[in-house]
Amino acid sequence: MLKIRELRENEIPPIPSNVAEAERLRRLEFSVLDAGYVRFVDLMGDDGAIVDAARISRAATDRLSEEEAGVFLDALARRGHWSPFEMVELKFRVRAPIYVLRQWLRHRTASAQETSGRYVDSDLAFQSACNEWRGVDGKPLPPEVCDELGELEYDACAALETVYTERLRRGVVREQARKELPLSTYSEAYWKIDLRNLFNFLRLRTDDAAQYEIRRYAKIIGEQIVKPLFPNAYAAFEEHDLNAVRFSRREAETLRAFVASRRDELVESAARLGVVESARFLNKLNAAK
Ligand SMILES: Cc1cc2nc3c(=O)[nH]c(=O)nc-3n(C[C@H](O)[C@H](O)[C@H](O)COP(=O)(O)OP(=O)(O)OC[C@H]3O[C@@H](n4cnc5c(N)ncnc54)[C@H](O)[C@@H]3O)c2cc1C
Repeated sequence: MLKIRELRENEIPPIPSNVAEAERLRRLEFSVLDAGYVRFVDLMGDDGAIVDAARISRAATDRLSEEEAGVFLDALARRGHWSPFEMVELKFRVRAPIYVLRQWLRHRTASAQETSGRYVDSDLAFQSACNEWRGVDGKPLPPEVCDELGELEYDACAALETVYTERLRRGVVREQARKELPLSTYSEAYWKIDLRNLFNFLRLRTDDAAQYEIRRYAKIIGEQIVKPLFPNAYAAFEEHDLNAVRFSRREAETLRAFVASRRDELVESAARLGVVESARFLNKLNAAK
């Protein structure tokens, strides 16, 4: 026989604290590049859901205050306990050039559904560099060179558009007609990912080593969407992952030798961190004594 019990008040999962923020974000479209966008579509969970998942082994039924939850999430991130962050999921709709989406969809721990050029006419929007061409040193090329390259870009896109539309007009199937469309053609996708792997995406794709164009998308997702929805989790991510650095063994040895020679100055500066954090920091550098 099916048994149903009504949960006690402290057993009922609370209404997520980010409902109003999610509703605000769901109404916005963030422009990226010349014709791309990021839209937040849906989510599961909030900062509290991560805390609850992490505390399941403690059989704790009390809820942490906002401030306690912040400290707790910070401790999880500091120790590298990222699995509770997988309890939260976010879904986006994005429009990006194919060459950006190709990099994006290398993140295998996400789920994606992309429009197919087999079934819909490509809307023939090609991402333009808007005459901002970067040289191999990352610096802008001279304006006259940019103008010339802009004209070449325009002519090439116009020719490819003609090839595509002419094939369709003559009855070629879309799946074949599209084959000369350039990597700059815009495409759209739904993208769903848990917060742990989204942090991984943000760390990799906001880094200076990532291509500028995908960085633009990643920065918007991180700062405009994830940060307001998960303020404590995002702060922990910024502190212990995004803005943290990791040293190789030899780098750490070099650093230790350096701080050993200037121990007094180090202890004085570390005091600014507070008692617990400064002790932890000095221990890491083997400079506690
Ligand atoms: C600057 C930059 C340059 C790049 N250049 C190239 C390039 O030239 N060519 C290229 O192909 N890719 C390139 N990539 C993509 C890169 O190799 C990763 O595939 C991509 O960044 C996704 O990272 P990830 O594997 O950590 O994320 P996800 O695929 O989301 O995986 C997250 C984590 O899950 C685990 N995981 C996922 N799948 C597996 C698996 N099959 N086996 C074991 N563990 C798994 C790993 O721990 C992984 O870190 C580049 C990425 C960056 C940021």
